[in-house]
Amino acid sequence: MKRHYAPLIAAVTLSACLAAVACRTVPETGRKQVNFMNPAEEAALGLSEFNKMKQKKKISTDQAYNTLVQRVGTRLSKVMPVPNAEWEFVVFEDPSPNAFALPGGKVGVHTGLFQVSQNEAGLAAVIGHEVAHVIARHSGERMSQGIISGVAVAGAGYMLNKKTGTSGALPTAALGGAALLLNKKFSRKQELEADRMGAIFMARTGYDPRESVELWKRFAAWRVQNATKTTPTLLSSHPLDDTRISELQRYMPEALAEYKEP
Ligand SMILES: [Zn+2]
Repeated sequence: MKRHYAPLIAAVTLSACLAAVACRTVPETGRKQVNFMNPAEEAALGLSEFNKMKQKKKISTDQAYNTLVQRVGTRLSKVMPVPNAEWEFVVFEDPSPNAFALPGGKVGVHTGLFQVSQNEAGLAAVIGHEVAHVIARHSGERMSQGIISGVAVAGAGYMLNKKTGTSGALPTAALGGAALLLNKKFSRKQELEADRMGAIFMARTGYDPRESVELWKRFAAWRVQNATKTTPTLLSSHPLDDTRISELQRYMPEALAEYKEP
């Protein structure tokens, strides 16, 4: 999204929230967001996307990986309030250290992730983070922001066209904005929010939330070691910097308050 639309989006978010139209509160953090999507629509999109992936990508039959992912997934799913969830945890044969979660409770873990997650709590940190994006409905929020910025672009174009006498192009531009954001790139704010929520879910499940800090440190180290290789999606879409670690540490007391050592 272009930076100069940010004030407009903030204004529309505020007015939508004031009017209680398309406004919701993110669980755990209490942040207000504007979201034109509904959970059932999002879950349907997630399901169809996941089915495509299962057909396209090779599914791992590794017993140890599958047992581990099912165990962590089952434990976390009991405390993660995903709307319209039909939980499914699948391990994909893929050397890149990556994982993802789609609306509807569909979770994919790459075999390459285990070299960085290293232990059960590390894996819980990744899955907790990815599912937190779903619970916070970040994709729907991005799409809604895309629609708002698309309308903003179209609105500007319409005003311009009015002056020049040609017809407006509102629908195309509005849809263009939404399509652009369907590729699930999350904002920095959303990434930090997913970290914070993920740590809380870990703690509620009995995993030490402090392991999430260690996990992101290992990711940072992995990135340095593999700087010459192609950057995998998880890294390109996840800001691996000091801010992330320090923010996670800042919110750690909140997660630790819910953690009971097993
Ligand atoms: Zn993320």
